[in-house]
Amino acid sequence: MNIWRERLIDCYYGATLPWRLRWNHRHARVGLSPVMILFYHRVADDHLSSWTISNRQFERHLDWIGQRFEFVSLAAAQQRIAQRYNPHPAVAITFDDGYAENCEKALPLLVKRKIPFTYFVSTGNILTGRPFPHEADADYQAPVNTIKQLRNLAAAGGEIGAHTRFHADLGSIDDEDRLYDEVVLATRDLAAEIGQPIRYFAFPYGLPNNLNDRAFQMCRDEGLLGVCSAYGGYNMPGDDPFHLQRIHGDPQLSRLRNWLTIDPRKLSVPRYMPEMTPGPLAEAACPAEATGAMA
Ligand SMILES: [Zn+2]
Repeated sequence: MNIWRERLIDCYYGATLPWRLRWNHRHARVGLSPVMILFYHRVADDHLSSWTISNRQFERHLDWIGQRFEFVSLAAAQQRIAQRYNPHPAVAITFDDGYAENCEKALPLLVKRKIPFTYFVSTGNILTGRPFPHEADADYQAPVNTIKQLRNLAAAGGEIGAHTRFHADLGSIDDEDRLYDEVVLATRDLAAEIGQPIRYFAFPYGLPNNLNDRAFQMCRDEGLLGVCSAYGGYNMPGDDPFHLQRIHGDPQLSRLRNWLTIDPRKLSVPRYMPEMTPGPLAEAACPAEATGAMA
């Protein structure tokens, strides 16, 4: 990131710090602290790209976050949103796609520190070793995880999640059969390969244009517990716990700090509201009278 841009963010952070401290204190006092979910892609020290963070930077992130926030699993994050109570700002770590180099240092570091993480992978790319679409034309095509690595990750306590078959932009797919294959069948195949159920799904690209209400519904009908987007945005206790909004684990610590301490501008990011029939988690989270009022 441009040094001046970084300084500008630092100035903005400093100018809004009193507001941030007040906001966080006020929300913590009533058990309404934010639940933040970060997404990373590739952690490696060479062939850097806009979706790569170095191992040193990644470790700095963990140090900085660990000193200020509570690390939680995606399931615990979701539970706090559903229960409408979160007394401490919490951060969940996720990864998208399935880059083999993550297994060298970053993931062992998480396991060593007992930091929970969810690892979303595109089933077809894992099974074939084919590079992801956003790397197809790049000079360097980063190796993709193997099924064996994913099994090891799951055995070490990592949660494996689904990320379509070949990293499809689901927002551009109308065909029901294709959508079903990318969302449901690819998830089932992944579960069969790693030998355990898949509970979460993440939309590739994850911006509002890349989301698809039918895909949300398919995930719910399939019995998945939650679905992640990636356009930035906080999750507040009482939000829809099925749709988990995520924030980019930006390599620059100043930008990460700006986001995780609550950027006033980010509070106004509109939440994508998929049209779906209510699921068991939402019903469990809503008292009977509230569910009735919504009907
Ligand atoms: Zn992805």
